[in-house]
Amino acid sequence: MKFMCSLEHAILDWMILFLVLFALEMEGQPVRSEIRFIVMGIFAIDSIVLITNPINGIAAEYVKKHGLIFESYTMRPRLLFIIHTVMCITMGVWVMIKLIAGCARTSRFYRGKYISFFLISIAISLLNNITAVTGNANHDIAKAFFGFGTIIIFFTTYNFFPEKLIRRLHEYIDDNISDATLIYDYKDNLLKMNVEAGKLFDGKNVDTVERLISLTGELEDKKKTVCKIENYSYEAYYNRVFDKKKRYVAATFIFRDVSDELRALEREHHAATFDPLTNSYNRLGFFEAVPDFFERNDKLCGYAIMVSGICDFKGINSLYGSEMGDRILKDIAEKFHEYHHKFPMIYGRTAEGKFTSIIPIDRINTMENVLGSFEVKENDELKVRVDMANGFVVIKDFDKSIDYYYEQALLALARCKRSSDITLLEYTDEMTEEHNRKMLLISSMREALNNGEFFIVLQPQVDIKNYEVTGAEALVRWNHPTLGRVSPGEFIPLFEGNGFITTLDRFVWNKAAATLRKLSEEEFYDGSISVNVSQIDINSIDVVSELCEIVENNGIPAKRLHVEITESACVDNREVLSATMQRLKDNGFVVEIDDFGSGYSSLNALMNLPFDVVKLDMEFMRANVTDGKSDIIVKSMTDMIHEIGADIIVEGVETEQNLESADFYGGDIIQGYYFSKPIPVEEFPSFVRKFRR
Ligand code: C2E
Ligand code: CA
Ligand code: CA
Repeated sequence: MKFMCSLEHAILDWMILFLVLFALEMEGQPVRSEIRFIVMGIFAIDSIVLITNPINGIAAEYVKKHGLIFESYTMRPRLLFIIHTVMCITMGVWVMIKLIAGCARTSRFYRGKYISFFLISIAISLLNNITAVTGNANHDIAKAFFGFGTIIIFFTTYNFFPEKLIRRLHEYIDDNISDATLIYDYKDNLLKMNVEAGKLFDGKNVDTVERLISLTGELEDKKKTVCKIENYSYEAYYNRVFDKKKRYVAATFIFRDVSDELRALEREHHAATFDPLTNSYNRLGFFEAVPDFFERNDKLCGYAIMVSGICDFKGINSLYGSEMGDRILKDIAEKFHEYHHKFPMIYGRTAEGKFTSIIPIDRINTMENVLGSFEVKENDELKVRVDMANGFVVIKDFDKSIDYYYEQALLALARCKRSSDITLLEYTDEMTEEHNRKMLLISSMREALNNGEFFIVLQPQVDIKNYEVTGAEALVRWNHPTLGRVSPGEFIPLFEGNGFITTLDRFVWNKAAATLRKLSEEEFYDGSISVNVSQIDINSIDVVSELCEIVENNGIPAKRLHVEITESACVDNREVLSATMQRLKDNGFVVEIDDFGSGYSSLNALMNLPFDVVKLDMEFMRANVTDGKSDIIVKSMTDMIHEIGADIIVEGVETEQNLESADFYGGDIIQGYYFSKPIPVEEFPSFVRKFRR
């Protein structure tokens, strides 16, 4: 009997210990194994002390006790027994507090599990006390209830399902979602999945959120993420559900098949990154594809980025038509395509008439030979010769953005295009210096105009018959504060590119008109001054009204201001060019065709334009003088020009021999270093006087 009484206390120890561990486990705070080991050790010692007490009596004395109905032993505590009791009561109270707190903290959906645990614990302790009061330790109903209660706790608590929540979520799925849907509880264990989800994850373990995510890849809460499952694309929506008190109760995953939408998007992306004409990447596509190219190919062999541009593609288009231009582009793309099978290469049409490629360094020359110069047949008689310039740079640092090297290759290409005798050029740092110089010129141009850094010089034009100065061409000059004299050959193309040429030309026209007025006031010069009108001016401002206003403001007759227009510069807008010339003539200005014979200008095109003077391009003076044949062609051309009543100015006359050629061509006026370089405006009067008889 004494032994049973001790054993009962020992069992109570263990029961309370397991209640504590169970409560911790249920809370999701499992006890670390070493702590568990120590605590169990203490309990084991306690149990041994209690069980051996009937023999040694170190924990307590036994006192016979008469209960209401039965007789039994109770233990009169000594120190060890008091420790045992305090330990049990503390832990029992702790369990109760945990359970009450759990009830209060948990969402009502999960509250059931705490409540059942709590009620059963209360029931056990009540029964235990009844036993104590009745004094029936031998037939303790509480003991019988211990086992039974444990089973109830296990099923209602550990295997607890929040039925109401599941029902609600299930209804939600059934009502709203035809997509694959899975629901997980607050411990991230699978609660439910619908039929679609069953099909999607057929045969795969998705019991926990962790396992599901291992199949789909990382998903973000409350965000749509596209993931791939078995070659199909799904848009996944992961939603962590919280109750009204913001407690996490469940997680839902919805997967929507977006394979079709993605395919449509891919088609759109293809359209945005591909050039259908040449069936190759466009600029966007090319740069997008580069990282992938380097991932697929071994970088060790060394690569270069090369930009290949068609020389004067604009001219070809306007002369032979855009259909021809398209055919040339296709031809070039085919060449790339053919070689792209022979070595690792990526290419695309990155601009109107430019292809960019990344090729192994040792294949640069191969590609140059393929692209350098070729012919495209228009028909049986006509073949169009296409020249291409190629600029490249070796990619030294693969961590740098490919744009960086592309810009360099572009600079090399631009330089290559300018030099007519080469078709391939490697980038050098000096090109960047040149580029930076250009940027400096552009950034300082407006200030330069305000600061008076621009001024005009006059190049005299001399009558071939009597060597009298009958006119002069006004040419602009720039005295830059840090760069010194900058040649118009350098800055005019830049300003034509950014539109500033119009402002600058307007300045020159005003200066030229003011100079004319001043020279007339001094009453010794009644000749002309020619000003240059750029193609950009014609397309962007009303040149005629502005010039009319200028001559009017300066009180000079329009016929003394000659207007030089480069005919070939207006290839794409001939109607506007022709109309502008006509209006200039109607207003009394003398219209001159500048640089005639350069580029693509043709006699036929010229003859349809209203003009008074033709300025032969300087190239005619540089041509081989012994080549009698071309001389005769030029002569017959100038004869025709004379026949329609126009005058001819020969430019670039530097030598006696040039003067003879100019005479042979029937030039009326001579402009060139033979007589004079462009001179400061102040020196012009004395120059005129010197030539006057
Ligand atoms: P351009 O209109 O054909 O002007 C003639 C150019 O040839 C001038 O060069 C002149 O200095 C140069 N030149 C004259 N005689 C000879 C010669 O015997 N031999 C050689 N080798 N060259 C000679 P510049 O002043 O450097 O001007 C270059 C170009 O810049 C001009 O060619 C013109 O296209 C443009 N330009 C100059 N001033 C203006 C301007 O005010 N407005 C516009 N739109 N363009 C201008
Ligand atoms: Ca000119
Ligand atoms: Ca000229």
